[in-house]
Amino acid sequence: KTDVQSILNKLGIASNNPAFSTGSEWGGASNAGIIDSFSPVDGHKIASVKVTTQADYNSVIEKAQNAFIFWKTVPSPKRGEIVRQLGDALRHHKEALGTLVSYEMGKSLQEGFGEVQEMIDICDFAVGLSRQLYGLTMHSERPSHRMYEQWHPLGIVGIISAFNFPVAVWSWNAALALVCGNVCIWKPSEKTPLTAIACQKIIAEVLQANNIPEGVSNLITGDRTIGEFMSNDNRIPLISATGSTRMGKEVGAAVGARLGKSLLELGGNNAIIISEYADLDMSLIGAVFGAVGTAGQRCTSTRRLIIHESVYDAFTAKLVKAYGQLKIGDPLDQNNHVGPLIDTDAVKAYLDSIEKCKVEGGNFIVEGGVLQGDKYISGCYVKPCIAAVKNDYKIVQHETFAPILYLIKYKTLDEAIALQNGVPQGLSSAIMTLNLREAEQFLSNQGSDCGIANVNIGTSGAEIGGAFGGEKETGGGRESGSDAWRAYMRRQTNTINYSNTLPLAQGIKFDL
Ligand code: NAD
Repeated sequence: KTDVQSILNKLGIASNNPAFSTGSEWGGASNAGIIDSFSPVDGHKIASVKVTTQADYNSVIEKAQNAFIFWKTVPSPKRGEIVRQLGDALRHHKEALGTLVSYEMGKSLQEGFGEVQEMIDICDFAVGLSRQLYGLTMHSERPSHRMYEQWHPLGIVGIISAFNFPVAVWSWNAALALVCGNVCIWKPSEKTPLTAIACQKIIAEVLQANNIPEGVSNLITGDRTIGEFMSNDNRIPLISATGSTRMGKEVGAAVGARLGKSLLELGGNNAIIISEYADLDMSLIGAVFGAVGTAGQRCTSTRRLIIHESVYDAFTAKLVKAYGQLKIGDPLDQNNHVGPLIDTDAVKAYLDSIEKCKVEGGNFIVEGGVLQGDKYISGCYVKPCIAAVKNDYKIVQHETFAPILYLIKYKTLDEAIALQNGVPQGLSSAIMTLNLREAEQFLSNQGSDCGIANVNIGTSGAEIGGAFGGEKETGGGRESGSDAWRAYMRRQTNTINYSNTLPLAQGIKFDL
């Protein structure tokens, strides 16, 4: 049995925690509100956190502004060295932090460790990147002129994160933003504040050991009100926000109104096409892990299976059998496949979606429901379920953050691709096929309209090396690998004249 108290002690989490941190310094007004963090695993209150007030918030911003003046002058490879040490510190704390992720958020222990591994991986990636923040050089049309572009840091990067990847999303943003020369202010989800405090303690130790001043990595806790301080604040040039499409529309509008930059990572409605040429055994693993992993609470969770009519019955039978074998329970027990939803509001949303689906005509071939009994005392454990539906049902067009899997039958690949694309979101997509023509069509510009398109892999579980994000209501942002770093910098074009005349561009004459 996991000794939660020893994990909390190892990570420096007290029973009452302050509201904000600028590094090693922590604080919070005495009259501030309190957030209690309850574990969805067993319903226990883990600890409390104070909420950041407007005055606290302003003092953090001032620290961050001052820190930026210093941090941007540190050479990028030296900033990379700090991020390398952060990666090492995370290696050291992987077990404790991964366990707290599992206990506070409810994902399986393996996925908790996996999330910390992603943090380590992005640190490694960022270290290499710190010597590769390349700009292009161009040939000038004027003689004895040189043109090039360079990338400069933006300033304060505001990070607003969701509950379901409570620590990895911060690191995707922070590791890149820091090597790019920015300072960060992180507002984690109010549902998972303790894992955020643990991360802040880990990075603060690294910064302090290197005599980096306060204000380079900052944490502020609270609900959306604190997020709104950030999106309306023109002292924060970039807001990177991960969460629901509803949130993204609000943040995007607020940041847009002040002509700031936003990087939005929002909801998905991800489908796997199971073709007549699919390897059905492999497809089964991809589909079931995609649909029930993290209890269906990944932005890339598989929500829809679009199945060819010729394999529909055979594949459905396999699915029903596999669902019958799923073990639901304590995610810290590695024998279980499915843990709890984040809270009882999420359970209500799950039940509500099942009802709506039935009203629209959905036929449940694996029934859902809330689990009762001693093992499920938190009230957050639900049964993964499967319904045969039509793609245009309102509920199917909507992202329900729970393990509800919708099945849709198709005849032709063109029809399957149209169904896959026929939702407002555009995050992750996949096709299971051994047919080269089908695979290539799916990946072509006549295929998937998503930011992520896979062949013979499910929709969930991306690697950090690629750019991560999606189109349409998913928000258009890209984080993590490839050239996602550019979002954290401003581009400057430079032209240098080393001749002794001043020729104008386009041959324009201007004689005095
Ligand atoms: P949420 O939208 O309720 O909250 C996310 C964060 O935004 C929280 O920190 C919250 O306090 C803050 N927030 C909410 N409204 C705000 C506002 N108006 N202004 C400023 N901040 C605001 O999302 P959630 O329930 O925590 O997470 C689940 C959602 O996140 C799902 O839709 C999921 O698909 C999405 N998600 C997307 C990605 C991705 O990379 N595309 C990754 C993880 C999660």
